Amino acid sequence: MRIVLGTCHHDCPDSCGWQVSVDDEGVATQMRGNPDHPYSQGELCPKVNRFLGRVYSPERVLYPLRRVGAKGEGRFEQISWREALDEIAQRFQGIVAEHGADAIVPYVSAGNQSLLAIMFGERFWHHLGAARVTGNLCGAVAAAGTVTALGSGKGIDPSDLQHSKFIILWGTNTRLTNRHLWPFIEQARANDAQVVVIDPIRTITAESADWFIQPRPGTDVALMLAMMHVLVRDALIDTDYVQQHTEGFDDLAAHVADWTPQRAADICGIDAADIETLARRYAAEQPAAIRTLVGAEHHEHGGMFFRTLACLPALVGAWRHLGGGYARSVSAWTNDVVDVDALTRPDLLAGRNTRGVAMPQLGRALLDTEAPLKAIVMIGVNAMVSVPETELVRQGLLRDDLFTVVHDQFITDTAKYADIVLPATTQIEATDVVTSWGSLHVGWNDAAIAPLGEAVSNSELHRRLAAAMGFTEPALFDDDITALRAALPTIDFDALRDSGVADVPYAPNRLPYANGGFATPSGKVALRSDALAALGFPALPTYLAPHEAPSAEFPFALLTPKQQTRFLNSSYSQLPQHGPLETPPALEVCAADAAALGLAEGDMARVHNRRAELRLPVRITERVRPGVVSVPWGWWSHQYGGADGTVVNSLTSDAATDWGGGVAFWDTTVAVARA
Ligand code: SF4
Repeated sequence: MRIVLGTCHHDCPDSCGWQVSVDDEGVATQMRGNPDHPYSQGELCPKVNRFLGRVYSPERVLYPLRRVGAKGEGRFEQISWREALDEIAQRFQGIVAEHGADAIVPYVSAGNQSLLAIMFGERFWHHLGAARVTGNLCGAVAAAGTVTALGSGKGIDPSDLQHSKFIILWGTNTRLTNRHLWPFIEQARANDAQVVVIDPIRTITAESADWFIQPRPGTDVALMLAMMHVLVRDALIDTDYVQQHTEGFDDLAAHVADWTPQRAADICGIDAADIETLARRYAAEQPAAIRTLVGAEHHEHGGMFFRTLACLPALVGAWRHLGGGYARSVSAWTNDVVDVDALTRPDLLAGRNTRGVAMPQLGRALLDTEAPLKAIVMIGVNAMVSVPETELVRQGLLRDDLFTVVHDQFITDTAKYADIVLPATTQIEATDVVTSWGSLHVGWNDAAIAPLGEAVSNSELHRRLAAAMGFTEPALFDDDITALRAALPTIDFDALRDSGVADVPYAPNRLPYANGGFATPSGKVALRSDALAALGFPALPTYLAPHEAPSAEFPFALLTPKQQTRFLNSSYSQLPQHGPLETPPALEVCAADAAALGLAEGDMARVHNRRAELRLPVRITERVRPGVVSVPWGWWSHQYGGADGTVVNSLTSDAATDWGGGVAFWDTTVAVARA
């Protein structure tokens, strides 16, 4: 028996450390949290506690498969790797000759967010000259909005919330999606800190808060502007900090003069008195921290949410204090220790300017007839569940002239449309490194067991593709350790392998901005941004309503939150130890709206808009306010019980966000009726 150290690879900020027990036959017999991991401290979560059930699931794809049925039918025959690679190489070479290499697009997402898994393959695609995916489904908007105020995405280390006295969890369901931060918050509460949750849904985190504020979806910027109004009106500004470390304060003060609490309250649907109290307490109860993650970015003006939020701490001088400031993803700190170019080798593009395919608008790209894509390789992504306007994606994947390759562990809703399915390893079958975006750590992941069947890691997949294409560029064939060493030039690599975790350097005294030093050109917080104005955006934080807003035809705002404890995005829902233990998907509606619609608990409701229609049982709840309905995402098509291929993302908007190339999932409106 031996114990192997690893790190969770999921699209989750916690990046927990784990230990895998492997018997003398090479079988993993137990997985548990690594008690020596400084952040997760020995705890995993309900989904990953059952990870070995996923590894050894009888439903795993363990051999290459070729489609024998119609696209979407999910019927395949087993073939050899040689046959699979020969067919892929032949199709690619034909496409390159006839349409150019950028008629092929690799579509890679965060099914596994380890360094090699998500980035090593770019070497192959750069060398080929394939199309590039631009934007992102998640995370990029929050970063882009923050950068417009602070000059970089860097905030405080979230674990320093343990030192806070007033914590605002704004648009983040910490207890569900960032559970290992919660003990730090509880530590602060033990020292009399107060926790406020601001969210359009009464989440389990809201239930645990001292105070819950529930604005209408997408109206948060109005609330922030009214807070600024109170801070200015009542002379609660830290004038010394503002004078030294911000630019544009006078303009901002004039701008928020007519953003009275009552004006914002009317937009947000909350009490003006609550806005007054929130602003005063935020100024007075230092250290005050604002914690946010990515949920709020899924609006047309998601970038503006993060820009406005990031301006608040400077106004009250919160950055001066340990436990004060603005905490979001720590990726901007972690990126300091990762040499992305060494890993992805953009030099292999050799100056070619290849076509960009916007990740959130995949359906539109696949249906583009002017410059049609001819092949797509989908890695670590179940696009038929996780991408908005899913019906467009489905129509695209049904094209006879589109060659589709999927590398995955299971026949997902997406893999059913593949021409070739290639077997992928799980995290305990491949060596890699995970850089956390929730804590300042880099985690090592050793392969604990040999790959099952003929499964290969993402890096090995791309080495095989390179060989099949006859490429000879040496960088395409680097082994995993060579590539990882190049990617982490400042990390003590051997110590990382031995201990399983390394620290990411942080700010002196744990105070990144106590004395200013923001990454803007002026070194100050850009309360007013002339750079944004030059691009045609508002120079000052500005509330803007979305184009898709509730109307007479589609009167409800639809939210599609993560809700299940045993899922991670679309992973796990089909597994017997996970999906069946969750409450099946339903339409959540408040009692007043249900009564007006003539709906009772358990009735079947028809929820629809111009994009799609779902029929779901009604659940009457206090989690949503009037005018808002909610359907959890992450389930696969058959679990929503709709038409084949229909999921809740079939209803959601694929409208682009203001900045960052994101998508306005949560600016979706629907109508609801008895089915
Ligand atoms: S999914 Fe998140 S909370 Fe669960 S084990 Fe992985 S990193 Fe930890």
